Amino acid sequence: MWLNPDSTESKFIGYVVVKAGARDCPNTGIAHYFEHIMFKGTQQIGTTDYAKEKPLLDEISKQYNLLSQTTDPKQRTTIQLQINKLNQQAARYVIPNEFSKLLTRYGGTGINAYTDLDETVYHSECAPQYIAQWCQLNSDRFINPVFRLFQGELETVYEEKNRAEDNFGMQLMEHLQEMVFKGSNYEYPVIGSTENLKNPRLSDMEAFYRKYYVANNMALILCGNFKEKDIIPLLEKTFGRIRSGETPMREPINLADFNPNRTLKIKIPFPLIKASALVFRGPTPRDRDYTAMQIAMHLLSNSNNSGLIDSLSSHHHVMYSMAAGADMFMTREVGLLGVAAVPNLPFGSKRKAEHLLWQQINKLKSGEFSAESLEAAKTEYLKQEKLKLENINSRISLMAGCYARGIDWNDYIRQISTLPQLQKADIMAACQHYFGNHYLLFHKKFGKYKKDKISKPPYAPVQTDNQNRQSDYAVQLAKTATPTLIPQFITLGKEVTTRQLGPQADLYTTANPQNDIFRLTLSWHQIQAKKPIHTMSDLFDYLGTSTLSKQAFAKQLQALGTTLSGNYALGGMSIQLSGFDNNLAPSIRLLTDLLQHPKTDKKFIATMKKDARLGDKFFGKDMEAIHEAVLDEIAMGDKAFELQNMPTSELKRLQVADIEGLFKAAQTGKLTVSYSGNIAADSLVNLLKPITEGENRQDYKGYDYEVKRPEKPTIYLYDKADARQAIVGTYTVLPPLDTEEKEALFTIWRNYFSNGSLNSVLFRELRDLRSLVYTCGGRAYTQWFKAKKNRPIGYFTTAGTQTDKALTTLSLIDSLLTDMPIDTHDLQNARQSAMNNINNSRPTFRNQPGYMAEAVLEGYTEDPNKARAAAISQTTNAQVITYYRQHIQHAPRSYFIIGNLKAIDRKALERYGKVVVEFKKDDIHR
Ligand SMILES: [Zn+2]
Repeated sequence: MWLNPDSTESKFIGYVVVKAGARDCPNTGIAHYFEHIMFKGTQQIGTTDYAKEKPLLDEISKQYNLLSQTTDPKQRTTIQLQINKLNQQAARYVIPNEFSKLLTRYGGTGINAYTDLDETVYHSECAPQYIAQWCQLNSDRFINPVFRLFQGELETVYEEKNRAEDNFGMQLMEHLQEMVFKGSNYEYPVIGSTENLKNPRLSDMEAFYRKYYVANNMALILCGNFKEKDIIPLLEKTFGRIRSGETPMREPINLADFNPNRTLKIKIPFPLIKASALVFRGPTPRDRDYTAMQIAMHLLSNSNNSGLIDSLSSHHHVMYSMAAGADMFMTREVGLLGVAAVPNLPFGSKRKAEHLLWQQINKLKSGEFSAESLEAAKTEYLKQEKLKLENINSRISLMAGCYARGIDWNDYIRQISTLPQLQKADIMAACQHYFGNHYLLFHKKFGKYKKDKISKPPYAPVQTDNQNRQSDYAVQLAKTATPTLIPQFITLGKEVTTRQLGPQADLYTTANPQNDIFRLTLSWHQIQAKKPIHTMSDLFDYLGTSTLSKQAFAKQLQALGTTLSGNYALGGMSIQLSGFDNNLAPSIRLLTDLLQHPKTDKKFIATMKKDARLGDKFFGKDMEAIHEAVLDEIAMGDKAFELQNMPTSELKRLQVADIEGLFKAAQTGKLTVSYSGNIAADSLVNLLKPITEGENRQDYKGYDYEVKRPEKPTIYLYDKADARQAIVGTYTVLPPLDTEEKEALFTIWRNYFSNGSLNSVLFRELRDLRSLVYTCGGRAYTQWFKAKKNRPIGYFTTAGTQTDKALTTLSLIDSLLTDMPIDTHDLQNARQSAMNNINNSRPTFRNQPGYMAEAVLEGYTEDPNKARAAAISQTTNAQVITYYRQHIQHAPRSYFIIGNLKAIDRKALERYGKVVVEFKKDDIHR
């Protein structure tokens, strides 16, 4: 048990970490598969009658074992049909997702899990009122879990596998993992091989559960709003029941020395560019040199882009360069260090790039770095570690990482405190040890990996008829005292104080109860007069002042331990500084200089144009980016954000003076300054004066977009010929949400139908019962500004499926929208879930000033969630159903399909409408 109470939070987070991962079942995928099964309930949860269900489940298990021993295709089909029949019989007793429904009913959000190489982690957030129910449910799930809905879940895992195969980034990571860990248990993908997935053995999974899911091998970690003394008896009563078992023995990881004499090829589907990478073995947090190597990596690359490896690209010796590694979140047994470079186009060579990388590494080994840069690297590392510890989300994930990697929390904290004693000689010694003769050399090769597809067996979908049913367990649980959730809000004048800095300039501040690090964000809100430039945000990597070059500017910031980042987009520009409070004044002075005397050079313009060209090339490869752009185009037409960008033809004509002019023009927007830290507001106001005293700022009324309403139901298409997966969905224009009541009804309906994570109608019907999709949900284009809430909104459903299932999925979504099944418990849950979201997503102190600044900008005088929660708590199921009948059930609907259109039956599409619009890349991307 790791308990970490924090009364400043509105929620608590609970993790159950099991030291069992992919390495403990190499290539079988059992650890991951079992993680899915853990959401299916127990002998009491998720069933209407376990006694009747059990013999069927036992028989299913037997049949799967038989299947795994059978190779004859005909016999396999016979067994599979038998399994399908048994599944349909067993499903009659199932209450799908009852476990996560119950967690939601009792304050839960973010209910999920993940499996990694060394561990499996189950996590969720919860409102403090429900800690008793949380402990009850989360301990019960590990006692007598039942392997039900197996067939459907297996298909879901297939879908997950196919999705990974379609994602070039994930595929790349899998191949890198295989090459780096060759010959060890870490070699194999967490999800398992295709062959193994086709032949799951339930009995192996049960053995896995019995061996690894024992208290001696598991940790419960709680972080957040609870009192330690109150919950010890509760934890004994609940988690205390998990059988202790024997600590399982694990296969050691034996990895041979890396061989530098063989170049490994990594396929990347980009033409033209070349790339080289070197990978070394690194320390794990349990090794002596861990902290020294962390600092060494900061000397190579840091967030101000002023490291030795960063300088290769900032001086344009290569196009890109990077260094990463020595992170505890890799694996328990093996640390890795990597450096990489992309040579300049068109004449740079890989050999030259590798030479440059080695040159920089050798500087570390021979001590060619200044005392100042060492101090700066230590300061930056210290700051990053403090930031990770300041909020419960990152703190608990650090704790989980420590437990899974066998690191005592106190040792981890101590490691940070040894920082001041680190000397130059320590860094040199660590680098000489780790950057030695054993490494892997990777070269990019143009090409694609073969996709490995698993087809689903020809199963009929399972049916359950248990709507509105609850298990006896749920009925009993409801009899325990269940408080009503009263969410926590942010109050202006209490958590966040505000004052005026000048005309159209306001300050929002929050005290920092955790550490001595400030965050200062300046946001200028203004619709850009000229078209914004895609890659303009990169400007912050190239911007210096009239007296300081970019490198000199970055070095000064780095010496202060301050980082600067910026963003420039359609709605305005924002710049964020983060550093130590005692260096706030010199940091603001540097920022002032930058704002008033910006200076960039031709190289930035050249890089910006190059990036725009590469961005163009990359756009067509990424399914998710296409998906976003298609939805934007349908909802907003030529006002889609993407299309506001400056076209390449105009980009070509830009001069250095234009860029500096744009940067200064962005500062004429309404200014909001958000600060979290411990400097008194008066001093802050004074420090900001040189920035805020001008009077040339204009008011901001928001971006004027209106969602588009197609004249007739339209089918929107986008062809991505090489995709295995398709994304399909619907689009409806709904009436304005101009009162809190209407907003509440829409929110609850949306939770119920498409957004209640594991509990929504779409999720249950498409994924749980039919395994048609891996992801599905709803998306809304709503108006942010209070004054513009009288405009209609756009609502999408969207689902990722396989191309051959695209039309089935679309027609099912369509019929679910027209004949939505009604379940009173789930409707109740959808309302509860809206309240949980409000409470559990209350911003931490760091984000409170920015959150309130945004709310006031949008026209609110207090935390908008206050009125929302009040409205949500007053709605009834009947009102939500009426809302659905009036506005959604018969509303005109349009449809979209993104995928390999050749494989789509156009004739069958006609039933959805006569108007077909096929987008090309230029229609949706600029
Ligand atoms: Zn999964």
